[in-house]
Amino acid sequence: MRDENCIFCKIANGEIPSRTIYEDDDFRIILDLNPATRGHALILSKNHYKNLYDMDDDMVSKVLPLAKKMVHHMQEKLKCDGFNLIQNNNEIAGQTVFHFHMHLIPRYKDDNQSFVMSPGNPEIIKDEDIDKVRDMLNS
Ligand code: 5GP
Ligand code: ZN
Repeated sequence: MRDENCIFCKIANGEIPSRTIYEDDDFRIILDLNPATRGHALILSKNHYKNLYDMDDDMVSKVLPLAKKMVHHMQEKLKCDGFNLIQNNNEIAGQTVFHFHMHLIPRYKDDNQSFVMSPGNPEIIKDEDIDKVRDMLNS
């Protein structure tokens, strides 16, 4: 399950060196080359999945427990004050590397970073639109 042209396949499987902070049979965790905060890390699957959409359920079920383990470890070592976990799917959502990865982003009181969501446009925040979406998803 590799893609010859995928840089994260090469990194995850050790063909390209990386600053690895964890590795097991299924995942490698590396430090991001362009960190948003100190310690910004990426969980990479060893198999090639474009993103969450096409990942095996078995692998999906391992990601969050691993993220939890790592945030405890990183919290202890880096003395950060919190974490953002970000996982982008498709270009519109900010995905730039099309191999599954999850960002582990340590947060510090004065890190000048922000991942705050802005409220939606006036159309989608109306009660009737939210009701419509609920009905679409429950139909
Ligand atoms: P995305 O925007 O796809 O969710 O995130 C891609 C991330 O991968 C970015 O934060 C970017 O800095 C990081 N990145 C891209 N290429 C490399 C690389 O070759 N090595 C490492 N360590 N990080 C990379
Ligand atoms: Zn890949």
